[in-house]
Amino acid sequence: MDIISHSLWGYGLFGRTRPWLALGFGAMPDLVSFGAFALIRVVTNNYSPGKPPLEIIPGWCFFLYDLSHSLLIASLLTTLVWRWKKSVAVAMLAWPFHILLDIPFHTRYYFPTKLFYPLSNWFFDGIAWSQPVVWFPNIAGVLLITTYRLCQRRRGKTE
Ligand SMILES: [Zn+2]
Repeated sequence: MDIISHSLWGYGLFGRTRPWLALGFGAMPDLVSFGAFALIRVVTNNYSPGKPPLEIIPGWCFFLYDLSHSLLIASLLTTLVWRWKKSVAVAMLAWPFHILLDIPFHTRYYFPTKLFYPLSNWFFDGIAWSQPVVWFPNIAGVLLITTYRLCQRRRGKTE
């Protein structure tokens, strides 16, 4: 899934009390991996738009992707934070939800999501999120959930 969709899903589902944190946690798994790599490519003047070929992606990017896309790690850290501050943990749920969206919508050919990493490298060989059968329902879902959250916030301000 693209990073904007992930952010908006996080905001829409988990952004009631801490909207910016939910937006951030929705994007975080891709920011720390693809985002860091894209930033380095921009700084070194090697950036080109579009999906980079696997051959030019460094090993640390795969490692950070696997760490940030582990349902085990995300669940563990969210549970720990839940014990400290529930409103932060609710916003953090955008992180495991990001992973749940990536599991069925990544293929074995480009960053399959190893949900049990580092205990296992198992992944589900899904349908690429860029396929129209996934892309259009995703956009519809993002629009619905974002509209819902914005309406909730507006209603909260007028009450
Ligand atoms: Zn992702």
